[in-house]
This record gives sequence, C-alpha cells and structure tokens, in this order.
Amino acid sequence: MSSSTVASGPWVKRAAELVIENRLFIGGEFSEGSDSFDRVSPRDGTVLTTVSAAGEADVDRAVMAARVAFDTGPWPRMKPRERARILQRWADLIERDRATLALLVSLEMGKPIRDSYGVDAPGVARTIRWYAELADKETGEIPDVGLDALALVTRQPAGVVGAVVPWNFPITLAAWKLAPALAVGCTAVLKPAEQSPLSALHLAALAAEAGLPEGVLNVINGDGAVAGRALGLHPGVDVLAFTGSTEVGRHFMRYSADSNLKRVWLELGGKSPNIVFPDAPDLDAAATAAAWAIFFNGGQMCTAGSRLLVHEAIADEFTDLVVAKAATWIPGDPLDTATTMGPLVDVDHRSSVMAHIDRGVADGARLRIGGGVVHEAGTATPFDDGAYLQATVLDHVDRTSALAQHEIFGPVLGVLTFRDADDAIAAARDTDYGLAAAIWTADLKTAHRVSAAIPAGTVWVNCYEEGDMTVPFGGVKMSGHGRDKSKHALEKYTDLKTTWINLE
Ligand code: NAP
Ligand code: MG
Repeated sequence: MSSSTVASGPWVKRAAELVIENRLFIGGEFSEGSDSFDRVSPRDGTVLTTVSAAGEADVDRAVMAARVAFDTGPWPRMKPRERARILQRWADLIERDRATLALLVSLEMGKPIRDSYGVDAPGVARTIRWYAELADKETGEIPDVGLDALALVTRQPAGVVGAVVPWNFPITLAAWKLAPALAVGCTAVLKPAEQSPLSALHLAALAAEAGLPEGVLNVINGDGAVAGRALGLHPGVDVLAFTGSTEVGRHFMRYSADSNLKRVWLELGGKSPNIVFPDAPDLDAAATAAAWAIFFNGGQMCTAGSRLLVHEAIADEFTDLVVAKAATWIPGDPLDTATTMGPLVDVDHRSSVMAHIDRGVADGARLRIGGGVVHEAGTATPFDDGAYLQATVLDHVDRTSALAQHEIFGPVLGVLTFRDADDAIAAARDTDYGLAAAIWTADLKTAHRVSAAIPAGTVWVNCYEEGDMTVPFGGVKMSGHGRDKSKHALEKYTDLKTTWINLE
C-alpha cells in the first residue's frame, strides 16, 4: 500500500505532540483505577495510551464523591445564574481546546478530523451554553387551590446522575446528558465507552479548570460489564441516562429493578427508513442525502438511514444514483482534512459489520458496491492495521431478512422497494425500532400522511439528520424513550415537588 496517502499535515504533527490524560477523574482530581486497558487507535492500530479502568471500588468512590457534592456541596445550592456562569466558562475552555478535543475524538474512535473539529467539538460547547442559558429561566407553578391553602409546584434537581454513553459521538452525547443535568443542579458520574475515554477525560479537566466544584462531575472509564454495571446497580445513583445498544439498555432496566429503582432513560439503536417517492423534488439531491445518511461517521449513527425504501418505478434509476454517490465515500486517514469517512471504531466491529454483509448476500441480496476491507487500487487506505471498510450498498433486500431488520452500525445500505404509500408505510413500520425516518416527496399530503403513520422520534421531510438544540431527540419502541436536547431534557433530571401550605 502506498504511504503517499498518509496525511502528513498539521493534524498529524499536533497528534504527535498531544499529552493524553489516561486516569479516572473523581472528586475533582485525576487518580488511578484498579485496572487498566490499552486504547488502540482504529486509525493505524497503534496503542494511544494505557487507560485506567474503574473497578467496583472506584465506581463507589466516584458515586460517593457525586453524592457528597449533591447532598452537602455548593452546586445544587448556588444561585442558578452562578451555575450558569461556571458552565459558560466550561464552554469557553472547550472552544479554546477545540483542536485538542477534536484530535482525541479522531484518534480514539476514527472520526474524520473535519467532523470532530467541525461538528463534535463546537457542538459540545453549544450544548453546554444552551443549557447554561436555561439555568435561571425555568419557573414553577402556583395552581389556584382556593384561599385556604397555597400550593407550590417546583422542580427539584433529581440528585446523582449516572451517564453511560457510546463511542460514536463520545463528547456530544456526554454533553447532551451532562449539560441539562448540571444546569439544574444535579451532580454526575460519566462512564464513556471503552473505545472513547480520552476526549471525556479532557472535558473533565476543562470542567475543573472552569471552576466546577469537586465531585460535581466524575469520569470513570472502564469495561461496561464492570464499571457500567456497578454504576447501574449503585444505590447512590438517582437517575441513569444511557445511550447505546438496545441490548445493553435492557441491562440498565434490570440493574434498576435489582437495586434502588433509579429512573432509567434510554436512547437506543435504530433501523431508520429513508423513503423516496417518484415525485421527490430533486432525485439527485435525495441520492446524495441517502448516501450521506448511511456513510457519514462510517454509518456508526443511531439515526443512520440504513433502510432505503425506493418506489419501484424509480428503483433502478435511483439505486444507480446512490451507488455512484457511494463510490465517492472513500475511507481514509481521519487526520487528513480531505477525508470524509474514517475507519470503523475497531477491527472487531469491522468483522461484525462484514458478517452482516456476508449474511445479506447469503440471504439473496445483491452486492452493488463495496463489501470489503480497503485494499483495492484507487481506494487504498494508508494503514494496514486500521479498521477501514468500504462504503457498501446492497439491493434486492428482503424486508424480513436480517439485513433489513438488524442494526449494523456500519457503512452498509440495504435497498428495498415499495409499490405505493400504504406499502411504504407497512415496510417502514416493519421494525422493532422507532428512532427516525425520512420521506422524500413534493406532495404535502403524502409527507403528512406517511410521517403520521410511522412511529419514530423524528421524521425528516426532504432532508436527513437536520436538527437543532431546540428540538427533542430520541426514540419510541425499542429505540428507547425520553428525549435528549431541547427544554424537555430538563424533565429527565428534575423531580416535581408539591409544597402545600395551610393558610387556615
Ligand atoms: P453499547 O455496547 O451498548 O455500549 C454503550 C455503553 O454501555 C458503553 O459505555 C459500554 O461500555 C456500556 N456497556 C456495555 N455493556 C454493558 C453492561 N453489560 N452493563 C453496563 N454497561 C455496559 O453501545 P456502543 O457499541 O458503544 O454504541 C453503539 C450503539 O449505541 C448502537 O446500538 C447505537 O444505535 C446506539 N446509539 C444510540 C443513540 C441514540 O441517541 N439513540 C446515539 C448513538 C448511539 P463498554 O464500551 O465498555 O462496552
Ligand atoms: Mg462496547
């Protein structure tokens, strides 16, 4: 393989100069955990650092630090405006260290630097600012209960929040949980995915620098089955906010049932239908978006448009267009600013994605493009030991096949066809998931009717993956419940309290 494709630009130089924090962050300081693991970069297979891993005793230390900070510390007791000031300072520092955070994300999980720098890092600062601004904007209710009493309905911070997040947007998803939780006065213990602990640790260091009181935010890296489980079962945790797979989401419901019945919020997987009608305003734009919907972040998106449903009248023409777009998504070095698709998160995940492709072909789907690790001339990636995989499209996919039903979480698009709007609705609904969907049509009636008939947290019309901090994000069915982002996220981290004052 040619080494000329290896990026040698400023990001590679910066990466070589990075000082990487690899310990746990508990009670306002970094400390070693009882165990450790190597984080191997999917970029090139090199060990980035040996990371401390939390054992049960470390999880207990972290929860206790958060517990003390909540029960007796200043954070829940200070004026909301003062909390907001500290959170804004945290956002300032995240902006200052935007390049460092972006590099850590790109190195640990392989995301192209153009996205970690252009999307993830600024998005984290924006999220924290948005909730900081809300900190003193919420008000309670005083219902009219007659003249004999005064009833106050207020929102109290719910307590210690455990946040367990995946690796595909490591700091973004952490911020979606931490920002509203901290803004209302909760304290938190964050468990990042074992593939992406480093960017989370840098966030914690910046929080301390911003003046977040000790114990308000703690970060425990480590194995899900050890540290995640201990957090899920811990009696000192009041709320557990989880983003990840449906399978692990089930574990958290069980942990809650087996411990203190802590409130569990789940943001889980998806198998989102992207539905293209023949009257779509611009088929070329729809094809560009369909490819983007599955290849952005290497398809490692809970909202990936992994089921492309195309009207049979345009199926051949549209699939050809999408295949042509797929050919432009060429995996490359995440530290090269020209790269739009990096490696997958690790070689194990790549093997699992490839097994899905093989099974799809065995089940009768037709491989139109991709399907392999990247070695062919013209699509060479720079590193043999990375976790690169080609952008892949299969058509002739049966609705009931594994390829159409299982979340693959990789750059693998399955193309299915439909006859009419009712058939499209039936196909779209034929899934355990309900995270997102998209509809491409110029007809307002079709857009409304189809979107109303699809159980999903978000439906996009003539676009994909659009959003804003103002709108809620989350799913229904086995994609979970509860919403991140928007004012609604505050409800997850607060409890309604009634104070009834007798005036007789
Ligand atoms: P995952 O395997 O479910 O892991 C998520 C988190 O749970 C990680 O921190 C993981 O730690 C931890 N964990 C794993 N096993 C555990 C256990 N037995 N007990 C307690 N914690 C445990 O998911 P992932 O592979 O990191 O991420 C991909 C999944 O996330 C996909 O299903 C995707 O759809 C979903 N996702 C959903 C959304 C959404 O908002 N709906 C957004 C992004 C991703 P380890 O890393 O140590 O295993
Ligand atoms: Mg995992």
